[in-house]
Amino acid sequence: MDKEYNHKEVEKKWIEKWSKSDIYSFKNDGREVFSIDTPPPYTSGVAHMGTILGYVWFDMIARFKRMRGFDVYFPHGWDTQGLPTELKVEKELGKSAKKDRSKFREACKKWTEYSIERMSRQLKSVGYFPDWNNVYVTMDRDYWRRVQYSLLKFHEKGLIYIKEHPVHFCPSCESAIAKAEINYREEEGYLNYIKFKLEDGETIEIATTRPELLPACVAVAVNPEDDRYKDLPGRKAIVPIFNQKVEIFSDRAVDPEFGTGIVMICTFGDEQDVKWAYERGLPVVKAINQRGKLTKVAGKYKGMGILEAREAIISDLEKQGYLVKREKIVHQVAVHDKCGTPIEFVPTLQWFIKVRQFKEDIIGAAMSMKWIPDYMLQRLIDWAESLDWDWVISRQRIWGTPIPFWYCEKCHYIIAPREEELPLDPTEREPPVKECPSCGSRRISPARDVCDCWVDSSITPLVITGWPNEREKFEKLYPVSIRPQGYEIIRTWAFYTIFRCLMLTGKPPFKEIVINGMVLGDDGRKMSKSYGNVVEPDEVVEKYGGDSLRQWVSTGALGKDVPFSWKEVKHGHKFLRKLWNIARFVKQNTSDYDGSEYDVSELKPIDRWILYHLDQLIESTTNDFERYEFPQIMRRIWSFTWNKLADDYLEIVKHRIYDPKSIEEKRKTQFVLLKVLRDLVKLVAPITPFIAEEIYQEIDGRKESVHIEEWPERIGSWLEEGAEVSVLIIRGIRRYKGEKGIPLNRKLKEVEIFVNDQRLLGEIRRNLEDIEGATRSEILIREGVPEIDVVVKELEPDISKIGPEFKEKTKDVIEQMRKIKSEIGEEKLYKSLLNSGIIELKLESGETVNVSERHLKIRIERRVGDKEIVDIGDPRVKVLVKP
Ligand SMILES: [Zn+2]
Ligand SMILES: [Zn+2]
Repeated sequence: MDKEYNHKEVEKKWIEKWSKSDIYSFKNDGREVFSIDTPPPYTSGVAHMGTILGYVWFDMIARFKRMRGFDVYFPHGWDTQGLPTELKVEKELGKSAKKDRSKFREACKKWTEYSIERMSRQLKSVGYFPDWNNVYVTMDRDYWRRVQYSLLKFHEKGLIYIKEHPVHFCPSCESAIAKAEINYREEEGYLNYIKFKLEDGETIEIATTRPELLPACVAVAVNPEDDRYKDLPGRKAIVPIFNQKVEIFSDRAVDPEFGTGIVMICTFGDEQDVKWAYERGLPVVKAINQRGKLTKVAGKYKGMGILEAREAIISDLEKQGYLVKREKIVHQVAVHDKCGTPIEFVPTLQWFIKVRQFKEDIIGAAMSMKWIPDYMLQRLIDWAESLDWDWVISRQRIWGTPIPFWYCEKCHYIIAPREEELPLDPTEREPPVKECPSCGSRRISPARDVCDCWVDSSITPLVITGWPNEREKFEKLYPVSIRPQGYEIIRTWAFYTIFRCLMLTGKPPFKEIVINGMVLGDDGRKMSKSYGNVVEPDEVVEKYGGDSLRQWVSTGALGKDVPFSWKEVKHGHKFLRKLWNIARFVKQNTSDYDGSEYDVSELKPIDRWILYHLDQLIESTTNDFERYEFPQIMRRIWSFTWNKLADDYLEIVKHRIYDPKSIEEKRKTQFVLLKVLRDLVKLVAPITPFIAEEIYQEIDGRKESVHIEEWPERIGSWLEEGAEVSVLIIRGIRRYKGEKGIPLNRKLKEVEIFVNDQRLLGEIRRNLEDIEGATRSEILIREGVPEIDVVVKELEPDISKIGPEFKEKTKDVIEQMRKIKSEIGEEKLYKSLLNSGIIELKLESGETVNVSERHLKIRIERRVGDKEIVDIGDPRVKVLVKP
């Protein structure tokens, strides 16, 4: 073994070896299965710290389960289709490149392949090893086939429909987007107070932030409780500039506090407007088209963009005397999470999956799973209960799974292909029928839209288990054991997966769902370029290695955001070097070990002491891994390794190795050293897989990999008080030498131990050889308590305490203190202070004052004759030392 641990070389070596081996593959050999529904990362080109955090989490779980004897099924996937890639390629090639759909797809595919290669390398560099031979890619034809087949099944159940429907629409991306893709942003804007004339000549004032929607105004409303406007409902208002007459009605949903308390309703203004339009059967007026431009109902404003139209209409309102005032306000604007453009409601032809009616089933399925942490379940329930609309699955895009249907333009009847024809792009085929089977129309069109990428990813538990055609595999693997994922996609990925899988199989898709948090910057804020707190995983791996980064990951708690910490990473790196040095020591000193095994009872008390603490560590580590409670695991391992193993045990047994009393003694020590190191290496294997493998191969190597070794079991050791106290004694003497600058291997002239407890004395006596060996000194042990002398080294008035309290008498007090000290001596003065708690001083002025311990600087030393006392923290034991 090299003198220094070289993480770069070691990690590189194992990445190569593991990539070629099949230690991470599913064996299907009859053992209990543990399966993971791996989140397919989006192929954005680079894995960020947040990605690394999530993937390392469940890689640790998989490694633990594998060592616990499970047959771990751990495939990997890539989520490849969707907007970010399409936008990237579009930016590179220009919008016109999209005219040729298949060429455009080819370009997206190329970028994605590059991205997969790069991200695989990054994931491997942090020791993330699913079964790299079992990988699905959502852009593959076979993946398309399964997605399209699932849609065929939904269609058969009557759950797919198309409808001209107002949907959230991003005018910049020119695509419908899901509610889950909406963010809210605070923005400055104007609240415009506009005069509306009533039919009968009166005027009212209406405040709106969106005057460009005036051409689509179809009604005006007030709150029925609003005393100011009791006489308005039932009358008619005339919309300025556009002059349509609209009805005024009353509705409790109107907020009387907003603006003037009177609102205008435009068919696609916001969600509330859309609700009213449907509830009250108001006319449907489309003022804004899919490119975010005003339509012909806007008259002379037709073709203008939203902001342009807003300003033009305001300026005209002002000229014609309709504008009362403009108030600056800050309001919440709904924007597209991908591009930040404010969202519009635009009625377009969209494809839907019926989901609202299954809310209760979805919640029921979610409740049948174990959620870790458990409070995350509520997020899913809240989301399910807030759903107003069905799921819009269509996107007006190219880079996605084609929606595999044709439809009748007249009656919206859907025509499906046959199962054997999948996968397909309906735009490249003739429809299977010439006329609509429902209405006879000959206007049959292919779906030109592609699927929302959640349609791809929400069947991953089905795809990885062989659905729909690999029956046997499916029966064995579905539902999967765990779904790990981030909390920010509960309302999308978790929700849609539970829904789809439940509808397609009748069963919930997973047994446990484990939710991780996000990575924050080291300043506790969100990692973001604008805060300058972004740390790229590559940089950390380059400097300190994957094992160090993984230790930082392990110190975070599930469900919680984890701040990145260079300090933790560096500490992790320090641990690697420590562990390496220990392993090197053990290897060097066990080269002649003959493989003898011993029962715990045959060993020395201090051997049982280290084995007892190892047992404790095995138990707590096992329990924590079982419950996915990681934060304490490494902290306990660090403490055991640094303190108990390296500082105490190794130092104590060195004499048995270098200068053994018998070959038997040496063998036993070698047995314990190897046992402790082997188990320790297994315990850290899920968190620091590289160094664990390297050391395992150096000291054991019975199996191809430590990662298919058996998880350590407790050896069943026990703790003797005498051993614990003996370790304290040794630690105390070694520390004493260190403090006095005495070399650790130098013999002390005299060491005497008094034990005021007969049973304890007997137990400590049994460790005498180890105590002598570890301290390189002869030890005298006896029962009882030594006569302790107290030597006063310093007894001085503390002016900083006396001054503020005695004020102008200070000088007098100090003088009298000095006097009494020289009269009766420090020793006596100290004793009388101990007896009465005070020292009485007669001042020059004749006044008597008391000073107590808090007014004095006191330093004493306890000695026994010419020996110093070493404090070991146990009142029954006194260790006396003469250097
Ligand atoms: Zn957008
Ligand atoms: Zn039809």
